[in-house]
Amino acid sequence: MIKPGGTIGILGGGQLGRMMAMAAAQMGYRCIAYTPEADNVVGDVCHDVFVNGWDDTLAMAAFAQKCDVVTWEFENVPAGALAPVDALLVPHPRALETAQDRLNEKRFVERLGGRAAPFAPVDSRTDLMDALERIGTPGILKTRRDGYDGKGQWRIGTSRDAEGISLPGAPCVYEGLVEFDAEFSVILARSAEGQKVFWDSTANVHRDGMLHTSTLPAGRLVECHIAEARRLAGKVADALGYVGVLTLEFFATANGPVFNEMAPRVHNSGHWTIEGAATSQFENHIRAICGLPLGDTRTVSPGIVMTNIVGQDADDAAHWLDDPATHLHLYGKAKAREGRKMGHATQLVWDA
Ligand code: AMP
Repeated sequence: MIKPGGTIGILGGGQLGRMMAMAAAQMGYRCIAYTPEADNVVGDVCHDVFVNGWDDTLAMAAFAQKCDVVTWEFENVPAGALAPVDALLVPHPRALETAQDRLNEKRFVERLGGRAAPFAPVDSRTDLMDALERIGTPGILKTRRDGYDGKGQWRIGTSRDAEGISLPGAPCVYEGLVEFDAEFSVILARSAEGQKVFWDSTANVHRDGMLHTSTLPAGRLVECHIAEARRLAGKVADALGYVGVLTLEFFATANGPVFNEMAPRVHNSGHWTIEGAATSQFENHIRAICGLPLGDTRTVSPGIVMTNIVGQDADDAAHWLDDPATHLHLYGKAKAREGRKMGHATQLVWDA
């Protein structure tokens, strides 16, 4: 067990790390972060930040020296960068290896009995034509690595569209477009002893490939799939020997839950848990990686709506507080670029 007072290292400098560090501070831990970004948003709430490239093994070794445990908030840390912190990493880095590559991830989940949209690897134009022939259109071509929030994705409506597409020069996967009734995620925390706790699943609405709202109750179209989706998420966590918070995203379809992707970390669709659950995803992640008992995950209000605040909408974000049941989170990002997640608002709905 890493006792409160110990030092937690966080790989990555974004809002997930910021909220993790805030939960850790509440329990008396000190956090230090490692990120290549000088304009990171963890600096405000961390004891120290190492601003160095992922390939700077000396800096990473110096960082490791200061930590009792190291976790990540960003899953695209290059695997080669992890050697100096390997022995301190929780969850085990095998979770990163699996989740960094969309193709591996889908194969892994299918081996455990999950169902993904039909997919095929695409490394060349011939592969793409073969995939279109086999899977059909419409579909989405996605880079296998480094995609997030709908980036590195191209929708293909007809085979003719494919002719005009210039391949991104990185390994891709083509997947059939799923006709879904709703989207939802399963977020769980698993302890080193294998205990698993789940938060309620929200209905997630995306805009331009990015999460827009997460809502509870999730509604009938989602609720009927939660038990099956949780069984799969639990199997994934057990198979990875996972310790910490793990997220699996699903499409709710007439034929059951279809696995979309996994995130081996706390997740945007779990931000509502800060005020909306007895224990937040951030606190339980810290508890799990430090070997403390997991906290109660139950939802505290009958309804919840979490809305992401994106780009320029952050300029007048204070209006969210006109409703006394709404909590505002801004991540302290200086530049409100279009499509950049700047914060979120969580409304607790008491008369849902
Ligand atoms: P991803 O980054 O893969 O989670 O994709 C972002 C969003 O794009 C998803 O949450 C869906 O709204 C949509 N999307 C991605 N893949 C598919 C698919 N195969 N079928 C339908 N919608 C998809």
